[in-house]
Amino acid sequence: MKIAQALLLYGEADSYERQEASWLLEHILKLNAFELKIHSDDCLTDSQIVLYKQSLKRLAQGEPLAYIIGSQPFWTLDLKVTQDTLVPRPDTEVVIETILSLNLPKTASIIDMGTGSGAIALSLAYERPDWFVLATDIYAPTLEVAQENSQKHALKNVTFLCSEWYASIPKQRFDLIVSNPPYIAEDDEHLVGLETEPYRALASSENGLADLFEIIAGASLWLYNGGWLVLEHGYDQAKEVQSYFKDAKFSNVSTVKDYGGNDRVTLGQYLV
Ligand code: GLN
Repeated sequence: MKIAQALLLYGEADSYERQEASWLLEHILKLNAFELKIHSDDCLTDSQIVLYKQSLKRLAQGEPLAYIIGSQPFWTLDLKVTQDTLVPRPDTEVVIETILSLNLPKTASIIDMGTGSGAIALSLAYERPDWFVLATDIYAPTLEVAQENSQKHALKNVTFLCSEWYASIPKQRFDLIVSNPPYIAEDDEHLVGLETEPYRALASSENGLADLFEIIAGASLWLYNGGWLVLEHGYDQAKEVQSYFKDAKFSNVSTVKDYGGNDRVTLGQYLV
């Protein structure tokens, strides 16, 4: 089978599915997009065909391409992802932009809680080599993936800690706490399309607000005066999240929209 024919096996011309088929072939044949085009008359080997067809089947069953390929680009980094990590979403890059726009000390120390693949922690560590980044996750196998990603990108300013939110965090102050915690309500229909990703990373009780609340309520014990808390949340949670911030004595509370125009990131400054 030629590359050109293989592409026709999945999706309509110019569809997103057809694009996924090209990415898959690029991965299996170790070619870039341009090489795939100019080699469109080359034939796949038998084992490549088998792997390609198996992978198309997984895609058709709803598995994210990132799990099949084993990695996902986020910000400037290519990150390893496994079934133990959420696939980093493009909208989470709004978290990175928001934090980089804050006026933080040159040698800020920050925590990324629930780091997953390390998307937030590692992107910030890469952008700000003088920052000290502590990346936590509740689940050790997930933390190992984040650690591998840190090594892959040769980051020297990140440390890792297995912790359930603040439970094991050392008693010291930080300039910023960031998290993209689970925030989908347990009965939300959106969970139906996300069965291949870890439920633990997606869903939270109290209508999706329990983990957000816990992080906000505890933050003041770990932040310097003037430190920031930056949280990703659901498109319909900005009002509740803002009121939790205010109840926890945060100032300068605001919400930033994602690339689709939905409320997505709320931040506030702990000023006493
Ligand atoms: N912090 C990670 C990310 O932004 C993981 C988030 C999660 O698993 N809920 O991708």
